[in-house]
Amino acid sequence: MYCNACGKAIAEDGRFCAYCGNVVGTPPAEKRLTRSRADRKIAGVCAGLAQYFDLDVTLVRVLCVFIMLATGICPGVVTYLLAWIMVPAEPELRPVLASQQPVAG
Ligand SMILES: [Zn+2]
Repeated sequence: MYCNACGKAIAEDGRFCAYCGNVVGTPPAEKRLTRSRADRKIAGVCAGLAQYFDLDVTLVRVLCVFIMLATGICPGVVTYLLAWIMVPAEPELRPVLASQQPVAG
């Protein structure tokens, strides 16, 4: 890949440009509980939990439904609504602008 600042070729897994010291690439994502935008059924709470705990989304949904039914629906629904309100939605992904990519050759 190439440095965004000076355009020199740098290592694919490099975090800094060796020529100008510019930070390149994206730092490892901080693990945060967010509501998924891409994989939501209602508010993305289950998908967000699945991402956070590295679980299968379907498993989390089944567990959520099971807990809601087992607790008589009300506490589960209230918990879900609270999570909807309190857990931030994950940031929207912005496509990399084509003009930022160096022209090959
Ligand atoms: Zn550079």
